[in-house]
Amino acid sequence: MKNNIGVIGLSVMGKNLAFNFADNGYKVSIFNRTIAVVDTVKREYAGENIYPTYSLKEFVGSLEKPRRVFIMVKSGQPVDSMIQQLLDYVEEGDIIIDGGNSYFKDTTRRTKELSERGINFIGAGISGGEEGARFGPAIMPGGKKEAYDYVSEMFERISAKAYGEPCCRYISENGAGHYVKMVHNGIEYADMQLISEAYWILKNLGGMDNKEMQEVFKAWNKSELESYLIEITSNILGEKDGDDYLLDKILDKASQKGTGKWTNLEAINLGVDISVITSALNARFMSNLKDERKIGEKLFGESLGIYNGQFKSIDTSTIDRELLVRLVKNSLYISKIVAYAQGFKLLLSAQKEYGWKLNFSEIAKIFRGGCIIRAKFLNDISDAFLKDGDIDNLIFTDIFSEEIRERMDDFRDLMSRVVALGIPANAMNSALGYIYSYSNGNSSANLIQAQRDYFGAHTFERIDKEGVYHNEWNNEN
Ligand code: NDP
Repeated sequence: MKNNIGVIGLSVMGKNLAFNFADNGYKVSIFNRTIAVVDTVKREYAGENIYPTYSLKEFVGSLEKPRRVFIMVKSGQPVDSMIQQLLDYVEEGDIIIDGGNSYFKDTTRRTKELSERGINFIGAGISGGEEGARFGPAIMPGGKKEAYDYVSEMFERISAKAYGEPCCRYISENGAGHYVKMVHNGIEYADMQLISEAYWILKNLGGMDNKEMQEVFKAWNKSELESYLIEITSNILGEKDGDDYLLDKILDKASQKGTGKWTNLEAINLGVDISVITSALNARFMSNLKDERKIGEKLFGESLGIYNGQFKSIDTSTIDRELLVRLVKNSLYISKIVAYAQGFKLLLSAQKEYGWKLNFSEIAKIFRGGCIIRAKFLNDISDAFLKDGDIDNLIFTDIFSEEIRERMDDFRDLMSRVVALGIPANAMNSALGYIYSYSNGNSSANLIQAQRDYFGAHTFERIDKEGVYHNEWNNEN
């Protein structure tokens, strides 16, 4: 009897996905470029359903037809190389799935190239890291719907479940699945940064210690902010290292693997404002300039009352903590809404640009489990898109426009305080600026148009009459 699916690439993700398929009753062939890994991985699995293979020929030959080949290798050139090698053995109608973090344009190219040879290709975004892969990831599959139908049952079975539903839905054609995963990663950056800013404000403006902040985050996790990232933040705040808190010992330089960069580059390409996500990426860049920040502190810190990284000008004993916690909570919630709204706005533009048909309500549902950004309010996002399917922006929906209006006074109050005191909260500020930009039918862009016409004869439209105009500007005014 042949096996149901084969997994190539047995590092963290591939190995755990193979075990997950096996747990769910599927017979899984496994293969890895470095052959020694195959037996090690086989030994790690206590059950029956893992079948080691030692060459690609043996691997492909061990699979039932149409063959399902799941590639989980390093993204980029290794994926192309693996596909190229597989082409010697796979046949028309077989299905190759790339579950790695591939760039969506590569996925679109691979789909086309393989389709010309009669091979079905699915680019599946997978989220949830090691634990997700093992026990239930969120899966965002893109490609031909007919090809997806061959794997849908298996994917839905191994995926995370949220509110009884699988966190796996067909996304759309070619690179759409990897695109949605990319946007997910951008939102993840924003979510993490916003929570970090909330922590920093509570600590420096509220003078709260880690234990007190842990209680705040615990309480927030029982509110509209309930989410995986809030939950782990509360646990992190309580983690001890001897008599101290571990968090206080961790160097404030944030790393990244570059996935947030793709989201930002893509937003620039499509002309979409994702300022909160961009601020989050910038904050990671700035965090790495620790030595330069120390130079800056010597130059500018004194005027803000900052000495040795401490805000000495803030008298935390006079702060109404209960009020502050409310202000930060409401600011965090609005900022979070804006971050997700920007991510979905990018998806909306991508749908038009690439001719995809995306179901935003269903995409929000995928994110509810397995993902790092899983959060209770994704239910509201899903409902909001269901109700207002063709809306231009999530913040315009009845649900979220009301939630923003209710909290806006607190958000403005907090932002004015942190700006005045020199506490950087750039992602939150970007969210506020985004709402401000959307809150006025008029803007200053008339002056931009005048300047463009002045130096470049780029023309402008008028509000008082139809047409396109150029003015002979007077240099002597
Ligand atoms: P890595 O990205 O570290 O890749 C290692 C695997 O790729 C090994 O099996 C390695 O084989 C194989 N490989 C590398 N180069 C080649 C090549 N030229 N030809 C054949 N095989 C090659 O593994 P991960 O499990 O961390 O990630 C796999 C994919 O999943 C990546 O795209 C990653 O971005 C994505 N991903 C990872 C997550 C995570 O939390 N780690 C979460 C979600 C997605 P060998 O043993 O021979 O070196």
